[in-house]
Amino acid sequence: MLEVKIYNSFKFASLKTQRMCVVCRQKYLQSTMMRLCVKNEKIEVFCGFGRSFYLCKECADKPKSVERILKSRKLNTQENQIQLKEIITLWQYQSKNLH
Ligand SMILES: [Zn+2]
Repeated sequence: MLEVKIYNSFKFASLKTQRMCVVCRQKYLQSTMMRLCVKNEKIEVFCGFGRSFYLCKECADKPKSVERILKSRKLNTQENQIQLKEIITLWQYQSKNLH
């Protein structure tokens, strides 16, 4: 379940560490960012291991971000677009309730 994966991803976030957003290259607190990874050419919510990257709140709000992330990683398929948009929507909803 995507909802559960996103919820669990909050547990990996440190409250003090800063990370760079892949879209705007600004640094933010890890705990305020969305953490994603790529598995078998598919965008996924970070699940605790493997390489990952971060997206900040501001960039998550911008519709262009999905395309930028997927294009720069050569993952711009319709499936990944739908998946990433869904992750962002759920993440925004969950982080609103959490913070
Ligand atoms: Zn950003």
